[in-house]
Amino acid sequence: MEFEKLLEQVKNMTHQAVIEDIKFANFRAFSDYQLYAVNTAIYPNQGNTEGLLYTVLGLNGESGEVAEYVKKALRDDDGKVSDERREKLFYELGDILWYVANTCEELEIDIEDVARANLLKLYDRKEREVLQGEGDTR
Ligand SMILES: [Mg+2]
Repeated sequence: MEFEKLLEQVKNMTHQAVIEDIKFANFRAFSDYQLYAVNTAIYPNQGNTEGLLYTVLGLNGESGEVAEYVKKALRDDDGKVSDERREKLFYELGDILWYVANTCEELEIDIEDVARANLLKLYDRKEREVLQGEGDTR
């Protein structure tokens, strides 16, 4: 699988090389997704705090749907995720992505910047060996 080969390459890169790649990587696909997702957005009070509340509630709701399917796999199928549930999770993850994109839009944030900043934060923690633990500022 191509992904596995690429992941192995990333694992073999130095920390600094990964950081440089992340800083200069083309994450335009995230911005493109945001653009197309926003174009499908129909909800009240877009562009103010109530619009933001709508997207955040939706994000929470869709995350709950994901949790529910995994819970049912634990309850009903000994923790095995069936093909049927995997397909449902596939679409629910898309719903989460849509709400993340529209929450970014409500906050006037480019989702590409969110993706980049998140990776830089995590690789900084990895380098300092504090990936595990608690606290947003560790
Ligand atoms: Mg859904």
